[in-house]
Amino acid sequence: MTVYINDTTLRDGEQAAGVAFSVTEKVAIARQLDQLGIHEIEVGIAAMGGSEARAIAEITTLGLQAKLLGWNRAVPSDLEASLACGLRRVHIAIPLSDVQLQAKFGGDRQRLMDQLRQCIGLAKQHDVFVSVGGEDASRTPVAEVIAMARQAADWGAQRFRFCDTVGILDPFTTYDRVQQLVAALPIPLEMHTHDDLGLATANAIAGIRAGAQSVNTTVNGLGERAGNAALEEVVMALKRLYNLDLGIKTQQLTSLSQRVQAASGDVLPRWKAIVGQNAFSHEAGIHAHGVLRQPDTYQAFAPHEVGTHHRIVAGKHSGSHGLRHLLEQQGITLAAPQERSLLEAVREWSIHHKRDLTAAELKTLAHRLQLPVSSPQSVMPAMPDLQS
Ligand SMILES: [Zn+2]
Repeated sequence: MTVYINDTTLRDGEQAAGVAFSVTEKVAIARQLDQLGIHEIEVGIAAMGGSEARAIAEITTLGLQAKLLGWNRAVPSDLEASLACGLRRVHIAIPLSDVQLQAKFGGDRQRLMDQLRQCIGLAKQHDVFVSVGGEDASRTPVAEVIAMARQAADWGAQRFRFCDTVGILDPFTTYDRVQQLVAALPIPLEMHTHDDLGLATANAIAGIRAGAQSVNTTVNGLGERAGNAALEEVVMALKRLYNLDLGIKTQQLTSLSQRVQAASGDVLPRWKAIVGQNAFSHEAGIHAHGVLRQPDTYQAFAPHEVGTHHRIVAGKHSGSHGLRHLLEQQGITLAAPQERSLLEAVREWSIHHKRDLTAAELKTLAHRLQLPVSSPQSVMPAMPDLQS
């Protein structure tokens, strides 16, 4: 099974409400996606013009290994804008469901198909790769999706994108639909899934299991509404569940996540899979104890695979082993009664502040409790105030 990642952080990811990348940020994200070994990058919408077109044009000059794809409506001027940016691969999105067709083409399917044919023809005249995407395909009878995709293939489309645009499928239905499409189509299928029901990654994986060749992802799952299938989740799921090596440098997933968080102005939930701050953090006494003895006790895979590390933290659920480990890291050793007092203080502090303690805060707390503290340094440094 060969699977390709077509990452759309720079298109669907940026479409997330309140997200706007600068040219510099788009270029930097494209470079890092390429460094990771991402096979294809959907770089944006050239028809928007302005800085979006400038960013796309600049990315096409970087000499990246990744293939670069531009998103278009079935409108000739969109295609011309993509070509003017130097793109050699174009994606043409068309509304498939009745509700989308009504909203975008006044329900006129013939006009839509005429425009699609014209746009594919224009692209083929310039000898560029053509992908066609069925928007809202998941709310369209599968026979209609097949008929449209076959028609597009006859006109020269080289890939069909199956879009669960509003994220309403489950993995079982996705598998059935994609299996039917793969069997019926002469061109490869690409998955495009949204996370409205929290199933984007699961549905993307189901589509791959059913024979889809490529999958759209976004870093951190960034995207419209609840977002898209997350790059880091899809890549690690394929790696860990199916032993699929996509040739992607997974050790850079955490740093890429941080770059995109900075560019999007977002901070991920701590519990975000793979790249969240807590993905490899352990506070609960039994868990911390287990991980300190044997990391496999409470981990799906080693954190270094995604470029991060285990973190033992002090908080409400800490136990003596975890606390001792943290104190030892700072050269502090306590007698058992003092340790119990500190543990109780840590728990109260954490309940009051609604978070775990930093190393400095733990040290300060130990000092404030006037616990005998031994340190490799003969003189303790000045204690910072506890943050509120
Ligand atoms: Zn989308």
